[in-house]
Amino acid sequence: MTAGTVSPLSADPGNEPVQDQLQQVQSLYPSRVVLTTYPSQHGINPIPLKWGAKDPAERGPVVVSRNQETLGKRNAMGAGGGSYCIYRALAVAIGALTPNHRPDFRLTEPTNKFGPFDAWCDPEKIVSMDPWGHAVVEHFDKYVEEGTDVRPTIAITKAHIKLAEIDDAISKGILSCDGDIITKNGELKVVKVAAEPVWYLPGVAKRFGISEAVLRRALFEDTGGMYPELITRPDLQVFLPPIGGLTVYIFGDPAFIPDPTKRLTMRVHDECNGSDVFGSDICTCKPYLIYSIEECAREAQNGGVGVVVYFRKEGRALGEVTKYLVYNARKRQEGGDTAANYFKRTEFVAGVKDMRFQALMPDILHWLGVKRIDRFISMSNMKYEAIVGSGIEIVERVSIPEERMPADSKVEIEAKIADGYFTTGEVPTAETLQSVKGRNWDEIAH
Ligand SMILES: [Zn+2]
Repeated sequence: MTAGTVSPLSADPGNEPVQDQLQQVQSLYPSRVVLTTYPSQHGINPIPLKWGAKDPAERGPVVVSRNQETLGKRNAMGAGGGSYCIYRALAVAIGALTPNHRPDFRLTEPTNKFGPFDAWCDPEKIVSMDPWGHAVVEHFDKYVEEGTDVRPTIAITKAHIKLAEIDDAISKGILSCDGDIITKNGELKVVKVAAEPVWYLPGVAKRFGISEAVLRRALFEDTGGMYPELITRPDLQVFLPPIGGLTVYIFGDPAFIPDPTKRLTMRVHDECNGSDVFGSDICTCKPYLIYSIEECAREAQNGGVGVVVYFRKEGRALGEVTKYLVYNARKRQEGGDTAANYFKRTEFVAGVKDMRFQALMPDILHWLGVKRIDRFISMSNMKYEAIVGSGIEIVERVSIPEERMPADSKVEIEAKIADGYFTTGEVPTAETLQSVKGRNWDEIAH
């Protein structure tokens, strides 16, 4: 090894000989590791990418792959696939996938047509997803043909969903099977859109009112220096972050979403796995989600359309580990689990009470062509303000009905209402917040 070069190989005597390890790496990748690139470097010639251009041909494809043929043509930093890029790396490392695998996108095209809408060519309206991310086959096929690794970041399909809670609502007469929106077997027909994050950094920085330089540096530092091009490639403006994306569930005809003569019911839901999937009763997430699905289905049955957007922002984007640490501290604190201390305990552990930062959230609504939401099934003031602030009208805000709240979730909901959540009822005082108490450990038998 010469001075200035680095080797990722371990010289641990218990490990395979260094020479063998080197050969394994060289069978997958070129021998020279490209740690970063520079705009003026030989062989660096990015495919033009003009964010917000009206014509997709002028806008250009988002190209982020580092495979040999594409490295020099890349016009985006980061990695494709959101957080799943790490599993891809593992698949390559164990030999299950060749690093030069070329996907075959034939027959993968969207089942339903969306847009294009004006927002797709407004460089400030959509900054956290690629508005043409579903249209690789349609618009960017020539690049794929030429051997460039261009991948979709949005996929659109359709499905039936069946939920025990919806069966229950049907048996209670809350919903009826019309044979169209809800089949005779109680299945809900949906169109689904999955989107991975694609950030146009100048637009993201502007949305948060910060400089692009600060944003780039923070992303570089807090990903363990994972993407040096954030620093060395100011000419590249698009970054694919290694985070979760979102899913849209549409009840009724998606073409009704931008139609001002049709009513739209919508919920924007942030993932809460403990409640959504496993039924934890400490919060209102699942009951609220189910209620919104019912309301969306009803709107569609009445001739409108319903939309649920599901963001992978677990535990207010703090993650489940932080969430459980907070649960423990809430239950153990002196005086018990009170609404008065609900946010304080999160702040003690995480330093902030919420990291969802809803500023980027309305992008998907603009992508869908939403102009007006007739019924917004959410009490969140942050979501409401972000949506209205982005130019979408919200006609009615709908709280979760009292009878659907689990008893132990009172702590959360009262604390949120006192903090600004929408309610048609009373806003609790500091005194009431002290008296709203959740179960303590002794009452949770394990
Ligand atoms: Zn929850």
